[in-house]
Amino acid sequence: MDDDYLTVTMLSAGLAGILHRRRHAAEGGRNDDGLLPASWRAGFTRLWWRFQAQNVAPLESDLELLALCAHPLSAWPVGLLLSDQDLENCLLVAGELSGFAEQGARLARPDVEAEWMENRVHLALRAAASANGGDDDVLVQTAYAALRRLMIDHPVLTDRDLIPWERKFDRADNSGQTYVRRLVEIAYVARPVHGPQNYLRCPACKNTVPDLVSSCGTPGCGGGAPEHMIARPLAVIYEQHRATRRFVHDPGLVEARIIDALCEESLQGVVRVTPYPGADVLDILIEFLGSDVHGQPAVLETWGVDAKDQVSARLLGRGFVWPATMRCDQQFLALPKHRADQPGYVEDLETELDGRVRGVTVIDEHRLVRRVKATARRICQ
Ligand SMILES: [Zn+2]
Repeated sequence: MDDDYLTVTMLSAGLAGILHRRRHAAEGGRNDDGLLPASWRAGFTRLWWRFQAQNVAPLESDLELLALCAHPLSAWPVGLLLSDQDLENCLLVAGELSGFAEQGARLARPDVEAEWMENRVHLALRAAASANGGDDDVLVQTAYAALRRLMIDHPVLTDRDLIPWERKFDRADNSGQTYVRRLVEIAYVARPVHGPQNYLRCPACKNTVPDLVSSCGTPGCGGGAPEHMIARPLAVIYEQHRATRRFVHDPGLVEARIIDALCEESLQGVVRVTPYPGADVLDILIEFLGSDVHGQPAVLETWGVDAKDQVSARLLGRGFVWPATMRCDQQFLALPKHRADQPGYVEDLETELDGRVRGVTVIDEHRLVRRVKATARRICQ
C-alpha cells in the first residue's frame, strides 16, 4: 500500500501519456477526451495519501504536481521511501521524461509513443532476420545479430553505407524494397541531402553531438573531444530516432563491449559466443568447448548473459525475469561498469531480486569477461 516505487511508476506512466497526447495535439491530431491518463490520477491519489500521512498540505492541482515533476524527488515536500540514488532523479527534464521516469513508465507498460516506436523497430528487425534466414534458424539468428549490431555501431548511416548490407541481406517485400532498408526507414529519420555532410560525433558511443562543447548525454559514456565526420551519401542520410537511440543503441553499447571482449583471439575455438541467441531471447550465450570422456568434441558448460543499463536498480530488479526457454549452467545479469560502480546499486538490485528471481548472478561487465577467461583456462583443455 505505501510502496512509493509504485507511486512514481504510476506518475511516470501518466507523464508519458500526457507528453504523448501533447505531441499528438501539436501535430494537429484530434484530442480524444481531455482526461488525464488513469495512471496519472492513480499516482496523484497515492501521493495525496502520502501527504496526509505525513501531515503535509496536499497538492491542489495537477499543474502543481506537474511542476514538481521537474524537481528531484528528494526536493518534494513529502518524504518518499526510495533509494538515495533514485531520490536524486527528476521525472521530467527539459519537458521530456527523464531516464528514471522512462524506466518507471516502461515497467507500468502503458501504450506510449516510445514503446510503440520500439516495437516497430523490433518487429522490422525480426522481419528482416526471418526473411533473410528463411527456415534456417541459424541464418535467422545470424542475420538478427548482424542487423542489431548495425544499429549499435551506426547511429548515423548513409544510403551508400546501406548498399553492402542490402547485398548481404537481399530479401525484399512485395513492393521490391529490401527488409533491411525498411528496417532503416523505421528506426532512423531519413533526410534527403546533396553532397558530403559534415557532422560531429562522440568518439566513444558514436552518437551525434550538436557542437564542440556539448557532451553526448549517453549514460555512462566516457565521451572525449567530439570528432569531425564527413558522410558521403548518394542522396539520403539517416539518423536514429530518439526511441532507437534510447532503447536499442545506448543499452546495446554494453552488450557490444562484452561480445567484443569475448571474441578476442585467446578465446577462439575455446569459447563460442552467440550474440542474441534465439533471435533475442537473451543477449549473449557463452559455450565452453572441449572434449567429453570419449575424446569427442563437446560443449562443457553454457552460460547466459542478460546485460542491462538502467537508471534505477530498484526498478530494474522489480521488472527483471530470466527467460524460461533459456536455462544455462550459469546465468548472469551483467551491468555496465558505470552502473555497478554507483554506491548501493548492486546491493539494491540484489535486494529486489532476492527470493523472486533464482539462480541469477549480478556481475559487472569486466568481472564477467575475467570470469569467462579464467573458466576457459580451467575447463577447456
Ligand atoms: Zn558518447
